[in-house]
Amino acid sequence: MIDLDTYLSRFFKLSECVKDDVDELRPEHVSCLTKLSNWVLDPLRVRFGPLRVNSGWRSQRHNDALRARGLGASQTSAHLYGGAADLVSIDGHSPGEMCAWLAMDGKVLPYDQAIDEYRHSAWLHIGIQRPGNIGNPRRQLLAMRVVDGVDTYSDWLESSLGALSDLEVTPTEPQGGGSIRG
Ligand SMILES: [Zn+2]
Repeated sequence: MIDLDTYLSRFFKLSECVKDDVDELRPEHVSCLTKLSNWVLDPLRVRFGPLRVNSGWRSQRHNDALRARGLGASQTSAHLYGGAADLVSIDGHSPGEMCAWLAMDGKVLPYDQAIDEYRHSAWLHIGIQRPGNIGNPRRQLLAMRVVDGVDTYSDWLESSLGALSDLEVTPTEPQGGGSIRG
């Protein structure tokens, strides 16, 4: 019998990462959730404060149900082996802020894939590699937006730089004083 009150890491309890179909939860799922919590969730929690886990481990049935509802669950989702979590910051940090941190200071974290997701609401999906396949994580950072009704993934950094280049930049006249004269 798996005790849902167990702490996986300093900050995360198993009950936060397992919502449904508890009878199908296996020790290997818990082991993977433990790695996810220690390697990735705790450092994000330290940086961004309290985080709500909207979805952690998912049973096949639960994942299939999400797919049927068009809620963006992948057939080979890392949630199925307990290797991913969908996070929302309680203090209002956006998934974009978290991705920007993952691209900079957080780039040492051994995450395999992180996605700045936006459908009806926004969250950060973050996952680690499948058990038995641990090593050289991809650290793939993606943005997901629904474009004309289709889930569209793009490189997060490129899409962020694209958003920046859309801004109007007004050149400022040199004010003098900064120039070097003889
Ligand atoms: Zn997810």
